[in-house]
Amino acid sequence: MSAKKHLHIYRRVDIGKKEFNKQTRRWERLNSHIVYKCVLDGCSHYQIPELLVGRTAQCSRCGGEFVVTQRMVGSDKRVNLYCDDCKKDKKTKATEEFLSELGLVE
Ligand SMILES: [Zn+2]
Ligand SMILES: [Zn+2]
Repeated sequence: MSAKKHLHIYRRVDIGKKEFNKQTRRWERLNSHIVYKCVLDGCSHYQIPELLVGRTAQCSRCGGEFVVTQRMVGSDKRVNLYCDDCKKDKKTKATEEFLSELGLVE
């Protein structure tokens, strides 16, 4: 995969500072700083959520184009950004699986 122009596939990462807590002997995050990075090889592009809204991206699930909405980077907290069609699909699937477990559908 070359770094030439492409639609980015975004993954949510927290690049906030970490500090080693000597009492708990664990790394603790001092502050949260969310950015969305492109997962494609050779691409170092990243964007903050505020500037990602309204941009076109590539869906991490179906590979289709979609426009990033505030909800996707806000309340939904999607780790790998995917389009709303894929969200629907997953929901429908889950419902179907649930119904088939109950023996309501074939
Ligand atoms: Zn990219
Ligand atoms: Zn999709």
